Amino acid sequence: MKNEKKWVKWLIVLAVCSPFIFVIAKNSQAINSSLQKKTPSIEIKDEEIKNGIKVQTESKEADAYSSFVMIPFTEIEEIDVPIGDWAFEQEEIFYEKFENEKLKSNKEIAAHFNLQTDIHKASDHFFSFVLTAEQFIENERRKSFVRTYTVDIKQKSFIELFDLFDKEKIETDNLLQIIAEQANPAISKEQIGETKELNWSVEGEHLAIYKERENDAKQESTTTRHEISLLHLHEYMEDSYKKLLISENLAEKLKKSEQEKKIKVRELKPDGKYVALTFDDGPHAKYTEQILDILKKYDAKATFYMLSRNVRHYPEIAKRVAEDGHEIGNHSATHVNLNATKEKRIDAEIIDSKQQIEEMIGYTIETFRPPYGEYNQYVLDEAEKSDQSVVLWSVDTLDWKNRNANSVYQATINETEPGSIILLHDIHATTVDALPLILNYFSKEGYECVTVSELLPLLEDKGPGPYFGN
Ligand code: ZN
Repeated sequence: MKNEKKWVKWLIVLAVCSPFIFVIAKNSQAINSSLQKKTPSIEIKDEEIKNGIKVQTESKEADAYSSFVMIPFTEIEEIDVPIGDWAFEQEEIFYEKFENEKLKSNKEIAAHFNLQTDIHKASDHFFSFVLTAEQFIENERRKSFVRTYTVDIKQKSFIELFDLFDKEKIETDNLLQIIAEQANPAISKEQIGETKELNWSVEGEHLAIYKERENDAKQESTTTRHEISLLHLHEYMEDSYKKLLISENLAEKLKKSEQEKKIKVRELKPDGKYVALTFDDGPHAKYTEQILDILKKYDAKATFYMLSRNVRHYPEIAKRVAEDGHEIGNHSATHVNLNATKEKRIDAEIIDSKQQIEEMIGYTIETFRPPYGEYNQYVLDEAEKSDQSVVLWSVDTLDWKNRNANSVYQATINETEPGSIILLHDIHATTVDALPLILNYFSKEGYECVTVSELLPLLEDKGPGPYFGN
């Protein structure tokens, strides 16, 4: 086979030369006598160790061209042979191109070939090599090719990207989608292309993806690098690789970011007098913050069931809700009746909406309230699948209908008992007006206002719900 021969040649050269520096001929500067063929001077070294891996370098200097090649040398044939073959292939492509250009221009031209290796160490036996080959011909045409190899020295083998992930936890297609979404700067799923051709490496706390970008007009190709934090991928990783690649430092960050993303849930006394106020359909440009101010005055916590459509309009208000220690729940994207909606749309209203709100506010959502309280088994299944308990209510204040602060207040005090979940809306001025009356009553009666997630463990309903409250 052609490739093997090339490799044998390479090995022989190395065997003769290493570990000494071997100079065949001193570089003679005879740039002008271009017709005279000179033997290039060659210098080979394999002494250098980068990040725990030996590298071999070969420099050539001839009249019109020069080259520098650096490749890793693990002393494991299964790993070194394919890498050496690729390097030789790139060098041959360069020479071919160079000869063609020379013939075309009918004169001596200058050219340089450069092949560099970056070595990234994740553990004492897990390494990623990023090889970049660049051609410079008459300083005009520049081509850059990249090839990555991730290796397990202990297993004497290459690692495929999908080996790192648990197939039970994520499908190939979904993983590509996540990589595309998280890549910074973003790339499309299509741009990531076939996984077999994917050039990737593990570099500290990131997974890096390398792409070659062709510019036909300029006859140029360049290499772009995209990185994804392992924090976004760890949950799908195979356990042994998770242990290997998630360093203590990263694990610490992960724990912190997960804690930060959770809205604090207090543990309540089993015999306490608690109620959960809930405000639906916001956030609202004006009323949500007025409600926050009143709640703060009474040291009351509440739950806001938001529409992702509205969070998109007022993300800062939504963030303030969470920062004030209230719970944010999902109330769908567009407030449709899910009982009269096709399944695909239901997924968007329950699952996509949750993800979008979380992305916008940076907190995890744990409960879902279906619009109009309308649901069916499919809705319950989709909510459970996406880790959202379904929460309805036991006290309907009819604030949306009556638009009268006093009647909202009367309905609340007539129906509330310990464990009640009270339905209100933070989109009406009359609800804002009713709130101080309600909170005054509660503090007089010894009720404490808590979030839905705090109240749920005290209710009789268990699991994913639906929960109604008392
Ligand atoms: Zn609603």
